[in-house]
Amino acid sequence: MVSRVIPVDPFDLVIFGGTGDLAQRKILPALFRRFCAGQWVDGAQIIGAARTGYDSNGFRDVVRESLKTHAAKQCQDVSALESFLRRLDYVALDGVSDEGWGHLARRLKPGRVRAFYFSVGPRLFGPLAERIEAHGLITPLTRIVVEKPFGHDLDSAQALNATLAAHFTENQIYRIDHYLGKETVQNLMAVRFGNMLFEPLWNSQYVDHIQITVAESVGIDGREEYYDRAGAMRDMMQNHLMQLLCLIAMEPPAKFDPDAVRDEKLKVIRALDPVEPHHIVRGQFEGEGSGYRQVVGNERSTTESYVALKAHVSNWRWAGTPFYLRTGKRLVARSSVINVMFKDAPHSIFGADAGRHANVLSIRLQPNEGITLKVTIKEPGPGGMRLVDVPLDMSFAEALGPENQDPPDAYERLVMDVIRGNQTLFMRGDEVEAAWAWTDPIIAGWQARGDVPKPYDSGSTGPGDAELLMKRDGRRWQGINP
Ligand code: NAP
Repeated sequence: MVSRVIPVDPFDLVIFGGTGDLAQRKILPALFRRFCAGQWVDGAQIIGAARTGYDSNGFRDVVRESLKTHAAKQCQDVSALESFLRRLDYVALDGVSDEGWGHLARRLKPGRVRAFYFSVGPRLFGPLAERIEAHGLITPLTRIVVEKPFGHDLDSAQALNATLAAHFTENQIYRIDHYLGKETVQNLMAVRFGNMLFEPLWNSQYVDHIQITVAESVGIDGREEYYDRAGAMRDMMQNHLMQLLCLIAMEPPAKFDPDAVRDEKLKVIRALDPVEPHHIVRGQFEGEGSGYRQVVGNERSTTESYVALKAHVSNWRWAGTPFYLRTGKRLVARSSVINVMFKDAPHSIFGADAGRHANVLSIRLQPNEGITLKVTIKEPGPGGMRLVDVPLDMSFAEALGPENQDPPDAYERLVMDVIRGNQTLFMRGDEVEAAWAWTDPIIAGWQARGDVPKPYDSGSTGPGDAELLMKRDGRRWQGINP
């Protein structure tokens, strides 16, 4: 099955911070891959903007090198690479002064989609928004894209929303959470709402509990200063894990449209109970000479690089079904997976020897995106009725053919959604604020109690207390499998 590519009309995309890490590693390679897929060709232009004084060719040289690393497969087609690079331009400008803005204004074309990607630190969001308006660059087809972190707490998120709202309408603001761009995350919605099979079982009567794990094997290298101010709760839980929880827990929206989906997600966040202090485990990785505190250069840091917690969504659907969430750095493997743990059958006709068996629906986000349903069957062979759990695999690649083995990167979909004007996979301002309103008291509690994270070994599955969190409830985490 060959996936359809729907071309988009010519657009102007300005990447503020075009020389930075995110633009070079993610945004520009994503645009190049969509270019190679034939999604955009004629007339579109991408303008990198930052303070460094490149000319257009200098910028193209930088991007060419990045693409060789981050879009190596597509770079084998040299004519496609050069054709893409010809569509790139560069303007040297300063986000906090008026230097360079006249040049940018002259490059933009009227009457087409105009997207400004804020791939810069958050302190520049306000100054950039002000200057875009001051220089008369806002048209009805203008959109802005903002990256995480969206605020540090509720107050700062509200202030940031207010700053952006002073210049743009909500339907012009695209707040990125790249987890929402992952193919499997969207597939989760297709599986839930496109099939009759799962939705009737998708509630506390049939689901025992849900586990959401986002494990990273990497540390925080290169982001030490930011990370030590943020920690796992702000960096991952408030946004990525919260978004995954919303998609699992939300009611079916009436249609797959931005506000219908985001209204349902918001209801989930607002239905979250405050988390009890004894339902949270914080951890900090250790390692000979490379422990968290050495890495951040602060021997007294109490920032968590790991957090696990038990959350409750207090509504009719989920009353009594806990959501266990965990995320951490320097863990045994890189693995993001949601496990929907169904209840045991109410009565075993096979007797005690058959053991206890329950269905598990696993939604893997990375690596090896795919969905697996564990079902119980009879172990083959004579000798009585022995039961065994086997995966009913719904790996996309096998079912949909080899051309789907390499699903588009999250940024490919999200950037093209910005151009198409589809906000479904972007966070709305009120969602972000509600997520902070849930997160802030948790962090304030740690600060008030002087909480110190539990140490855990680099390369492990996290602190032992996270296992206890489950064990106390008679449950256990599914393995962190690569
Ligand atoms: P980075 O590598 O430090 O790049 C920052 C960019 O901003 C550079 O291009 C820099 O270029 C430009 N810049 C800095 N000050 C400027 C100014 N006054 N006017 C105009 N341009 C200016 O940062 P990054 O890692 O790409 O991150 C960018 C944003 O994305 C941050 O908000 C970050 O939190 C977020 N983010 C990054 C990642 C990631 O993987 N990197 C992931 C998720 C979110 P000049 O120095 O030439 O001006």
